[in-house]
Amino acid sequence: MAADSTGTATSAPPLGAEYADTASAAYRAALDVIESVEPRIAAATRKELADQRDSLKLIASENYASPAVLLTMGSWLSDKYAEGTIGHRFYAGCQNVDTVESVAAEHARELFGAPYAYVQPHSGIDANLVAYWAILATRVEAPSLAEAGVKHVNNLSEEDWETLRHKLGSQRLLGMSLDAGGHLTHGFRPNISGKMFHQRSYGTDPQTGLLDYGAVAAAAREFKPLILVAGYSAYPRRINFATMREIADEVGATLMVDMAHFAGLVAGKVFTGDEDPVPHAHVTTTTTHKSLRGPRGGLILAQPEYADAVDKGCPMVLGGPLPHVMAAKAVALAEARQPAFATYAQRVADNAQALADGFVRRGARLVTGGTDNHIVLLDVTSFGLTGRQAESALLNAGVVTNRNSIPADPNGAWYTSGIRFGTPALTTRGFGAADFDRVAELVVDVLTNTAPVGTSKAKYTLADGTADRVRAAAAELLAANPLYPGLTL
Ligand code: PLP
Repeated sequence: MAADSTGTATSAPPLGAEYADTASAAYRAALDVIESVEPRIAAATRKELADQRDSLKLIASENYASPAVLLTMGSWLSDKYAEGTIGHRFYAGCQNVDTVESVAAEHARELFGAPYAYVQPHSGIDANLVAYWAILATRVEAPSLAEAGVKHVNNLSEEDWETLRHKLGSQRLLGMSLDAGGHLTHGFRPNISGKMFHQRSYGTDPQTGLLDYGAVAAAAREFKPLILVAGYSAYPRRINFATMREIADEVGATLMVDMAHFAGLVAGKVFTGDEDPVPHAHVTTTTTHKSLRGPRGGLILAQPEYADAVDKGCPMVLGGPLPHVMAAKAVALAEARQPAFATYAQRVADNAQALADGFVRRGARLVTGGTDNHIVLLDVTSFGLTGRQAESALLNAGVVTNRNSIPADPNGAWYTSGIRFGTPALTTRGFGAADFDRVAELVVDVLTNTAPVGTSKAKYTLADGTADRVRAAAAELLAANPLYPGLTL
């Protein structure tokens, strides 16, 4: 049984500790082989582990996958082309990829209680793009083909094809605004979704920073979107997906939930009932590498009426599947079905609470005043800083975070006014509530000792001794909660 650095016992074993000797031997052998071909890559790989072990990683979208997940990716499964779907491939000899994809999809269905799972997307952005096309194909293309009396687009006349293309390209999407915490793929211009759809956003209440369901419903009634998107990258609160579904149903929209950030909290049953998106959404997308703690990749869960269209993701939107990554998804999903993962997920949420309380007690201002998921969003204007200055000063002191917009951000999307913190990674290392309170203390120490230079939104000075003091304190926390304990290269 592991203990956090306050000595409190935890029931989650350190990641992969039970097979650390075997994993160490495997990594040593692999790095020796790599070194014999391209030593710089072996060196960078070794150095990355050392750097990750030595830094206070608070980036909300990152985590540490288990050695089992990481090792699964390094195999000859990578060498196989397997465009198509299970049992229906455009290439011969895919029997083992079929097994891999079936096992991964089975774990995903069982873990999330979903009728259908698609494990091919290479990333979260790819998963969202597949989902959008699947919704368009189900809601716009299929009825248009039926109207034209044909079964397949290839049989449409040129004129009907142009009409269909126009319909597909003129649909509406309603998603959370970027400064309220939404994601680029929810219809914003730097992403293809912003060019595919007529987009409108819903924000949060200007006073409380909380999602205003009445305002979402009013926007939906007025805008009548084909797709209502719920989900976020930087909103520090839970969402009531039953209410979002009611709103979608009222206006005839498809509810798509992007749970990329909080999938681990859904998998670990921290979010249940109305807070579990899977039974409420028509289509749920996610990444597999954030709080879910798997390999980098994407995943889609869908209600039966969308399954056929999602299944056409490759080659409709995606290139050939990555069998080695699908295999690693299967391993990570198997891990997430263990009771230890539920303990981990609960600790992620408890730790976020401790971090938020630690900030509030020290006088810092948080967007929405706190958190009830894995994210804490700190408004650094109260320290007289931009997000850019705060991010750089923290990094200088060994604290890795990222700057983020806050609602109605006075400093825009580049410099920003917020710093986003997340607890999934350090919780994997074994950090507990007391450790996160200490993290809050260290962050406040850095920010109170940082000053802007003139009117610059980027330049800053850090008072002498601050970086060394904070690095030394962080090193103690990190040493008490080692990353991959027992893993030696
Ligand atoms: N959706 C959300 C809500 C995200 O936060 C992210 C990434 O940060 C993505 C999608 C995109 O994921 P990926 O980087 O794997 O494409």
